[in-house]
Amino acid sequence: MRNDEIEQAASDLIHRAGITKTPIPLHRIATFVGAEIHQQTFEDMVSGVLLIRRDERHIMVNKAHHPNRQRFTIAHELGHLALHHNSGDRLFIDTHLRAYQRRGSPSSGAYEEPGSTTTPEEEREANQFASALLMPRSSILAMTEGREYWDELDVASLATQFGVSEQAMTIRLRQLGVLESMF
Ligand SMILES: [Zn+2]
Repeated sequence: MRNDEIEQAASDLIHRAGITKTPIPLHRIATFVGAEIHQQTFEDMVSGVLLIRRDERHIMVNKAHHPNRQRFTIAHELGHLALHHNSGDRLFIDTHLRAYQRRGSPSSGAYEEPGSTTTPEEEREANQFASALLMPRSSILAMTEGREYWDELDVASLATQFGVSEQAMTIRLRQLGVLESMF
């Protein structure tokens, strides 16, 4: 799946759910797609789980992780639901989730560990979807338009506004061409 298709899918979901504010309210999106979010105790290596059973959709997120990371995990699982679920029951388990990995470099065998039912390509797509859902292209571009000089505090402030880590925001700003690749 191409990146622009993933951007479009995330943007469509935001609009269909009637969301116009940031941080993007993930609980509202989950409700809109019929999913329940559960904060649970997991081993540290488990970030999140998406369970699809008949007409039920459950997203389980590791409650010990930082709130920003939990948000990325929930958005990632919403990505699996939006992009990778066609029909039937399915279980997605995300361990050692490379939530902030740059697109196009699904390195390491982390995704192929026992227990993971997804492919590296699906993981890349779910991460791209999460990034686009949490940091919508149009919102970011509107808020950063005309700005030429950036420092770390600007990125931190933007990250807070969108409920993401500074690292995730930096990657997104580079991807959208707002920041040069050297920051
Ligand atoms: Zn995943």
